[in-house]
This record gives sequence, C-alpha cells and structure tokens, in this order.
Amino acid sequence: MKGEFEFIEGIRTMFPSPEGVRGIGDDCAVIPQVQGQDTLVSTDMLVEGSHFLMEDISPYQLGWKSAASNFSDIAAMGGEPVGSFLAVALPKDLPEAWLDEFLKGYRDISNEYSFPLLGGDTTSSPDRLCICVTVLGKAPEGRSVTRSGAQAGDLVCVTGTLGDSAAGLQAILKEVSRTEEVPYLIDRHYLPTPRVGEGRILAADMGVHSMMDISDGVGSDLRHILEESRVGAEIDIRNIPLSCQLRTFCQRHGLDPVELALCGGEDYELLFTVAPEAEPSLEVEHTVIGRIVEGCSVRWTGSDKDYMGFRHF
Ligand code: ADP
Ligand code: MG
Repeated sequence: MKGEFEFIEGIRTMFPSPEGVRGIGDDCAVIPQVQGQDTLVSTDMLVEGSHFLMEDISPYQLGWKSAASNFSDIAAMGGEPVGSFLAVALPKDLPEAWLDEFLKGYRDISNEYSFPLLGGDTTSSPDRLCICVTVLGKAPEGRSVTRSGAQAGDLVCVTGTLGDSAAGLQAILKEVSRTEEVPYLIDRHYLPTPRVGEGRILAADMGVHSMMDISDGVGSDLRHILEESRVGAEIDIRNIPLSCQLRTFCQRHGLDPVELALCGGEDYELLFTVAPEAEPSLEVEHTVIGRIVEGCSVRWTGSDKDYMGFRHF
C-alpha cells in the first residue's frame, strides 16, 4: 500500500478545490462565510463488520454509499451542498486497487451532487476499516426544514418509492437468482440517490412544514416528526408508493412489499409534511400517504393486516 502522504496526494489530485474555497492541502479547509446563511453540519461513522461487510459490498459502492447517506442528511434539511470531509482508518493489508475504487465511488457521487471533498484524515487501523464522513451544507437563515414543524391538517408525503433498498438487501443476503428486477433493487441498496435537489425545492416552499430523510423505514422515521412536532398522523397503507420491481420481487419470494416499505431501511427518500393548499403546486414528484392530526399516535388504515406486530415501535 502507498504511504499516507502519497495516498493524500492522490486524493488531492482526484478532488480539486472549487473556486473560492481552500480544500485539501493545508491544516484546515477555508470556506468563506456568506451573510444571511445558516451552516448545516452532519457526521456519520461506518465500521466494517457493523455497518458493512467487505465481502458483500464493492469498494465503489461503499465509496458512493458512505457519501450518499450523509448527502441525504443535508437534503433532509433542504440544504445546498458546501462540501464533505472524509476520515478513514485503513487496515494495513487493504489493496491499493480497493482504495482506488472506493475513491472513485466517492468522487462520482461528489461530482454528481456538487459536494466537493474539502479535507479529511487518514490513519491506519489494526484490523477493521472505519469511515467517517462529515458534510457541510448551507441554507438561507432560518429556512432549513426541521422535524418539528408539522401541523395538524398537513398532508404527509414521500418522494420516490419505498422498500426497494430493503428488498435489495434481502436479495443480497439470500443470494437469490438474478431475475430481471433484482439488479435495480440491489442498486437501490448499494447506490442510493440522495434527494438533494428535491430537498432544496421543497424547502423553498413556505407550505412545507417539516422534513427528514427515510433511513430506518417510514414506520419508524415518521415517529421522529410526530414526537418533535407533538402531533399524530393517519397513514393509508394503500397509498405507500411501491415500485413494480419491488412488487415483482415480493411476489416471487412470498414477501410483503408493504412490510419492506414500512420497516426496511436505507431508502434515503424524503418524508415531509405540507399544508394541503400548497401540496398541488409542489414541483417535486411525491406521493401523499396520509395526514397529520392532533394527538401523538399513528393510525394505519387501508389494511387488515396488523402491522403493529413488527414495527419498531
Ligand atoms: P494534519 O497532520 O495537519 O492534520 P494531514 O497530513 O492529516 O494534515 O492532512 C493533510 C491534508 O490532507 C489536509 O488538508 C487534510 O484535510 C487532507 N486529508 C487527509 N486525509 C484525507 C482524506 N482521507 N480525505 C480527504 N482529505 C484528506
Ligand atoms: Mg490530519
């Protein structure tokens, strides 16, 4: 493996600093402040064995995904990308080619979402690989969308379709045969799409009152909005958006797509609430799945099946 300095030089070449920002190469990154903007910061740590298994995920996918889950946190607040920081603890026997692929995945998603890599740290690890990503975003002062703004009467909405990532994980773990819907589902699991553009558009609409990204499944994530906002919700299970690939996969393997959609994690779609009069003109594709009510509990309608049994709460 390359030495630390050579490795960092390689990263520096792959990730040039954007105009007006000093990124990799000094003791600190220097990012000019803009009046009237809030800074958004989030960090996430991934540990080999706990969050991923080397034999399951390719280095490219891991590079992409470790950035994606962080970009999604900025998306969830309606933030505009500023940059990311990448700290890695590398086992000594990690092949150079593995690291190159990891960085390519990280670079491709960074370019796709205009999230420049501005710095990080590189150290060695006695055995396991650890990855810590920190992201910075910005939003007009006071205009980032929190979990605490939901109001009784709001419609509850989600972007995209739910449960695909969970189905992809099932396909990987059970090593099912590669029928035509499987690659799509596996990509949704390993190469998720953070909704950064959508988050910004939603945040610009005064009718959008609360928002978060769906990382643990809407069944459990919705709870956070309800608790922070001190409200309840009624959700119609028939309205949960499911992809045709998910339906096909579940039919083939005797799984319940709704269960995967409500309880499966890592969709990285956005869950938000919006005033009913503002919903029709939202410029982001979405599905209305229910509404916010007074109280503090969730009522699930539209299914005879008791989903209470296996929900996280
Ligand atoms: P210091 O010892 O002052 O912390 P380093 O030698 O750790 O400096 O890092 C030198 C430069 O390279 C810094 O700008 C740092 O942010 C950057 N850097 C180090 N490791 C990484 C990494 N894994 N990804 C991105 N930038 C990195
Ligand atoms: Mg350092």
